[in-house]
This record gives sequence, C-alpha cells and structure tokens, in this order.
Amino acid sequence: MIIYLNGEFVPREQAVVSVFDHGLLYGDGVFEGIRAYHGRVFKLGEHLDRLYEGARAIDLQIPVNKEEMQEIVLETLRRNNLRDAYIRLVVTRGVGDLGLDPRKCPKAFIFCIAASIVLYPDELYEKGLSVITASTRRNIPTACIPRVKSLNYLNNIYAKLEANLAGMPEAIMLNDEGYVAEATGDNIFIVRKGVLITPPSYVGILEGITRNAVLDLAREKGIPVEEKLFTMFDVYTADEVFFTGTAAEIIPCVNVDGRLIADGKPGKLTWELIAAFRELTKVDGPLISPAEGASKQ
Ligand code: PMP
Repeated sequence: MIIYLNGEFVPREQAVVSVFDHGLLYGDGVFEGIRAYHGRVFKLGEHLDRLYEGARAIDLQIPVNKEEMQEIVLETLRRNNLRDAYIRLVVTRGVGDLGLDPRKCPKAFIFCIAASIVLYPDELYEKGLSVITASTRRNIPTACIPRVKSLNYLNNIYAKLEANLAGMPEAIMLNDEGYVAEATGDNIFIVRKGVLITPPSYVGILEGITRNAVLDLAREKGIPVEEKLFTMFDVYTADEVFFTGTAAEIIPCVNVDGRLIADGKPGKLTWELIAAFRELTKVDGPLISPAEGASKQ
C-alpha cells in the first residue's frame, strides 16, 4: 500500500505522523471519506468543496488548491492500482507545541490513504438494520459545528459505544432539542405517505454527500422531498427508514428501539433509490486514468 504523505508517496510502514501534530493532540483538522467506483471518484468535487469549506470554518489554510488536491487523490489511487476503493483524505493543523493554539502550527499536514472497502455484509442490505436511539445528543452547532467534518469524532463515538453495548450496528442521534439529527456515521431518511423526508442541515448534522445525491435522485424521479424537522414518533411510524453514507451507500433500517418499521422489510422507495444510486456511481466523477476514458470513447 502506497500512501500520500505531505508531498510524497511512501510505503505504509513509512506513513507516520508526528506526536506533535495537532490533528492527533487535539483533533484539530478536517477529513473526507470518499469512494471510487468503476475507475471514477464519485462526487469528488463535492467532497473537496466540503473539505475546503470545513477548513475555512476552522480557519485552517490548506497549502494546496482544489485542483492539486484532486490530483493527490487520483494519483494515490493510480499508485495503488485501485479502481474501486475507499479513500481517506486528511488535513491536520500540522505540527505545533503542546498548547492548543493553532497559531503555533505553521503549516497544515496532508495525507491520503486509498484502501479496499469494508462494508456491511450483503445480508444487512437485504434484511435491513436494527438500531437504537442513542442517549448521547449530537453536538450543538453553537459549540462544535456538525457540518464541519472534523477530526474530532468523540460525539459520534459516544453514540457508537451505546450501539455496541446494545449489539446494534448503528444508533440514531437526536439534537439537543430532541429532533432527529443523523446516525453515528450516516444521514437518516424516512418515507411517510410517499414523501421522502430528511432533517435539514441546521438541525445539526454533517451534510452528507450521499444524502445530497439521494435528494437529487429523488427530485429527478419526481418523488416529493422535504428537508424538515421530525421526531422519533415520525421514525417509529414511518413507512420506510434508511441511512446514507459514503461507506454504507443507502442501507435500509427496519427496526428502531425494538419497533418494527412498517412490516419490518426494506421498503419499495428504498430499493428504487438504491438501484438509481448504483447507476449513478457508474457515471459520476472524474476518471482515475483519463487514458482509459479516451480509449472507451
Ligand atoms: N454523518 C456523519 C456523522 C458522518 O460521519 C458521515 C460519513 N461521512 C455521514 C453523515 C455521511 O456523509 P457522506 O454521505 O458524505 O459520507
């Protein structure tokens, strides 16, 4: 495995960061989880936009521009001979002293890992997930902005610990006011009377790239879509529930806190969106090897 490490491509064993890096010491930095499908990097532009916006929100200057960053991602895939992969792109505040002041970190540090994908087993897509509601509330936007995909994931990890304890693969998190926010590493959708509903980003969520792709697909298909606040009542009594995320894609959820969702089977709209999403992954995003695209045309 070859890793991009701040200007170089190095073997995995040499891909190490300093113990003085503030990404490690304070969770100070931003990252992206990205997927490559069929030789293309899905929604790469959207991922880079989110990364750079997050960096701006934490006043972190990324020392390369978006075009250069795109090339870093593509070249990491090429060096590892990968056409289908999970990509982790990380920008930390860089090396500083032991205090938390970011001004002591002169330069951000970038690394990029491309690996094969670890997914939920197929069975879970067919049967759907059973989940719980976590007692840990999602970070409030006035304290730690959930829209920034920061290296500080403790909020989500608290909820994941609850899911683990309950023997469940995911947990739903509410915001501080009790409205449904998202899952620990995925966004949430419900279907009620033919309307596809997902929480608006101001509820305090990471605005997922997969979430936005699903909203676009639904609109294209003429499915009514609403971004609005809802509570666990709406989840328990929904016709369909599913989660979206780069790693999970679209995964049905059939049991929440012991309540069966509808008849306890993944719903029709969920399947329809899964099929449309899979088609989209075949055509969206820049080619990893442009020559390949040229020879196909
Ligand atoms: N919410 C959280 C907290 C996440 O970590 C993720 C995964 N990045 C998502 C939602 C889904 O976002 P995306 O579709 O961009 O992967």
